Amino acid sequence: MNARPKKSFGQHFLHEKRYIERIVSSIAPKDGDTVVEIGPGEGAMTLPLLAVAKTMTAIELDTDLIPALQERANAIGELRIVHSDVLKVDFGALARELGAEKLRIAGNLPYYISSPILFHCVDHASAIQDMHFMLQKEVVDRMAAEPGSKVYGRLSVMLQLACKVTPLFTVPPGAFRPPPKVDSAVVRLVPLPPGQLPDAAPEKIHRVVKAAFAMRRKTLSNTLKGLLDETTIRDLGIDPRARAETLAPLDFVKLANAM
Ligand code: SAM
Repeated sequence: MNARPKKSFGQHFLHEKRYIERIVSSIAPKDGDTVVEIGPGEGAMTLPLLAVAKTMTAIELDTDLIPALQERANAIGELRIVHSDVLKVDFGALARELGAEKLRIAGNLPYYISSPILFHCVDHASAIQDMHFMLQKEVVDRMAAEPGSKVYGRLSVMLQLACKVTPLFTVPPGAFRPPPKVDSAVVRLVPLPPGQLPDAAPEKIHRVVKAAFAMRRKTLSNTLKGLLDETTIRDLGIDPRARAETLAPLDFVKLANAM
């Protein structure tokens, strides 16, 4: 199979065997796991994963790729391909349909919608055991960034409040066909157990984090005007003259609860 990769679907097919093997061994699927791949493409990761997992589900938007992938997979195991935009898939409903307590999600993600996919998965985190994603390295750096770092921002806070984020390894452009313009990296996300999740309404957290990072160089008293006054911020033990990039993820939970 050597379909012409479609730019509009963010297609960069992985072909270097050693990276495929590293991804599969990082996921380490076990018999009985319910593995769901986002964007299987021509099956670079799907077929080796299927060989271990025996049954799995894959969600692919490009109909042109599905028949050939299904045929190759049939010789290896039971692959169920769902033709859909992953952003429309309700992972909770999918888990119930598959009779699984939790899903193990994996994918070399289409980079043009990687952040929406990450947020979509976080919204369904209670149905997910773990996620292994290939993304632009720059995105993985932002996801794992700590307060004070130049790349610490909305993505870092929102993901770290929901998951343990572990960058695993970098993958060079030459490992893909066609090569993307940037380095890629594989990251593991493990949703936090319910007891460690923030006790604030998700919409409030979204609002406060978005507002705080909207103008990175401004102080909280400026960016949060209309949401929280200076005294309230100070009473939480947070300096209203500080910038969002210096706050720990849990500080945003305190701010959200005070709104
Ligand atoms: N997993 C394959 C690999 O590693 O070679 C392909 C990865 S390619 C970067 C991204 C894949 O996601 C493509 O197969 C593309 O068609 C698919 N895709 C793009 N947008 C999608 C969407 N919204 N929902 C599901 N799949 C999508």
